[in-house]
Amino acid sequence: LRRNPGEEEFHQAVHEVLHSLGPVLSKRPEYAEAKLVERLVEPERQLMFRVPWTDDKGEVHVNRGYRVEFSSALGPYKGGLRFVPHLALGTVKFLAFEQIFKNALTGLGIGGGKGGADFDPKGRSDAEVMRFCQSFMTELYRHLGEHTDVPAGDINVGTREIGFLFGQYKRLTNRYEAGVLTGKGTGWGGSQARTEATGYGTVHFVQEMLATRGEELAGRRVVLSGSGNVSLFAIEKAQALGAHVVACSDSSGYVVDERGLDLDLLKEIKLERRARLDTYAEARPAAEFSSRGSVYDVACDIALPCATQNELTEKHAVGLVKNGVKAVAEGANMPCTPPAVEVFRDAGVLYGPGKAANAGGVATSALEMRQNAAREIWGFEETEGRLAAVMRDIHTECVTAAEEYGAPDDYVLGANVAGFLRVADAMQAQGLV
Ligand code: NDP
Repeated sequence: LRRNPGEEEFHQAVHEVLHSLGPVLSKRPEYAEAKLVERLVEPERQLMFRVPWTDDKGEVHVNRGYRVEFSSALGPYKGGLRFVPHLALGTVKFLAFEQIFKNALTGLGIGGGKGGADFDPKGRSDAEVMRFCQSFMTELYRHLGEHTDVPAGDINVGTREIGFLFGQYKRLTNRYEAGVLTGKGTGWGGSQARTEATGYGTVHFVQEMLATRGEELAGRRVVLSGSGNVSLFAIEKAQALGAHVVACSDSSGYVVDERGLDLDLLKEIKLERRARLDTYAEARPAAEFSSRGSVYDVACDIALPCATQNELTEKHAVGLVKNGVKAVAEGANMPCTPPAVEVFRDAGVLYGPGKAANAGGVATSALEMRQNAAREIWGFEETEGRLAAVMRDIHTECVTAAEEYGAPDDYVLGANVAGFLRVADAMQAQGLV
């Protein structure tokens, strides 16, 4: 705490992991001797830099860029970039720390990193977003490389932004180094199914969790938060598997549509028009939009928080349990507060933490890197098949580790322990670095 003052989210993420590691450290004293935990909580490198740019009126703005290169024990630093107002170092550090274990769980040879900027793209023109991305990359490019550090998208960073960033990287380096960024357009080095991967993967993970209790997704009522990249494709996969998806949210409120959400309309509103959710209810009079209360007030069997960190609180969790929720899987990173997780645990609700449940996105990014390295293009079905297999493997790893360490059904412990062991063994083998 003294070493990293004011970084509450980072403390929260570290606390959760360390809480799981007690049994591992007693079984493997060599890790304690090598100060593995002390080394693991200190990023290998963290960058903060100035990002100056001009808006369409010629006014100058100055933002702050970040890249935290946390661990390269298993491969190049890998993790997304997030553009949100007020982004602080502690948030980027928590995301990068989580990413280490998530990426380890995929088994695809990628280290952990994360980055972004305190830039708000809302209301900005394409030209303004392009100038911002170009300025951001003008500093960041010297730290990147397909074998060094490979960013992707995250909140407010989609194919448009990755395109602008890639274009500037190419211009500065004079190299068409496709594997330096993932989430590219499919016509210029991007992987099929990358856009869909995080949401699809989260739903695959839910299926696996339900199957441990002999249950399935078809016919279940599903509620999600967010209506961005993760959320929209979680809706798509859940609907394809026969679930009844009735509510989702955005930063302005939430919409309930008892007939089932109209995904085409949602995509048009959120992806094409970049508009708010109240326009959904205007177009579908039977649906209701509310800016009061929470999407978690809507009764459901399955809740998928897919918006942002610490959005699902203890109060929401109590309400969900009262309304009979059976499973919660995190499409977003750390969306449930620690007291909310306790509520789910006490009630015996299946709870899939983000570092396992939303690992499908980064797994498919690693598959994009493979395709780029081999100069191959795989079809959608092949890529999605590999994604589904990775999610099944991650689920099995979590369950196996949780059982081995005496906490069956505890996906938090299972994910932390399985991810940690892979990173720790690599760090031991690589010496004091
Ligand atoms: P997007 O920017 O595409 O979407 C985020 C969505 O969340 C938007 O609909 C946004 O609303 C909404 N939102 C933001 N804050 C709130 C809030 N407080 N309450 C309700 N809704 C809110 O981001 P992504 O979908 O890419 O990312 C979402 C989460 O998933 C993040 O935690 C991210 O780190 C995580 N994640 C993403 C991956 C990916 O592949 N994209 C991979 C793994 C994890 P509005 O539309 O109004 O802005």
